[in-house]
Amino acid sequence: MSNSIVAGNWKMNGTITESLRLVSDMKDELHRIQGVTKILFPPAVALGSLANLVYASSIELGAQNMHYQPSGAFTGEISASMVKENCSWVLLGHSERRLFFHETDDDISQKLLAAVANNIKPILCIGENLGDRESGKTQQVIQEQVSKATSALQTISNLTIAYEPVWAIGTGKAATIDIIEETLGTLRSFLTSEWGDAGAKAPLMYGGSVNESNATIFGESEYIAGLLVGGASLDATAFVSLTRQFAAAKSS
Ligand code: PEP
Repeated sequence: MSNSIVAGNWKMNGTITESLRLVSDMKDELHRIQGVTKILFPPAVALGSLANLVYASSIELGAQNMHYQPSGAFTGEISASMVKENCSWVLLGHSERRLFFHETDDDISQKLLAAVANNIKPILCIGENLGDRESGKTQQVIQEQVSKATSALQTISNLTIAYEPVWAIGTGKAATIDIIEETLGTLRSFLTSEWGDAGAKAPLMYGGSVNESNATIFGESEYIAGLLVGGASLDATAFVSLTRQFAAAKSS
């Protein structure tokens, strides 16, 4: 795995047929971009078909969510072993899961533990909402999210964290580089004081209205190891282009 990451979160978009078409449209060009780990998070139903399509390419797959129990009466959920059949990553704690599905920090903590126990690489999503930011509570909120989510872990050496301010997701208003660097800098100090070397090294991503026009500036920041992309990851041309720009900025 490269130290830099570009990940596409498709959310609830695309049938299996549409997912296959989208990946076919980006696969060869994405595969050729070096120096960056490229991960797609399609709807879970498409993972099996896409695993065949990206086999032997440098494109990796992940699930957008999973349950922490290994099996049982949890209608509509998928488990770690189901995720593992087709992919090696999982997104946990996305703000849409927290908001629409009432996921708590405790749920996320158990999911993280299950992911790590099953050798699935988790990307923990954290971020403040507009009210938190306007009342000066950003650091408090995201440190609480991280502390609670990681409370059951022995180490965070396999953890990647995506900072996604809720007000920047799907709004077309990405956070400024100053806001991101200030937030990630303070988060890094916090992680290092809590987790030592693993905290100093955990990859920190940014997500929120990333597109072709801002990927380079984010790539030029030493605070940002990766991008988590929603809307723009549904457009093959845009996603390939922003990935290429991010990789180029990271290698220069
Ligand atoms: C996301 O949902 O994680 C996200 C960052 O979305 P968008 O890029 O559309 O803001």
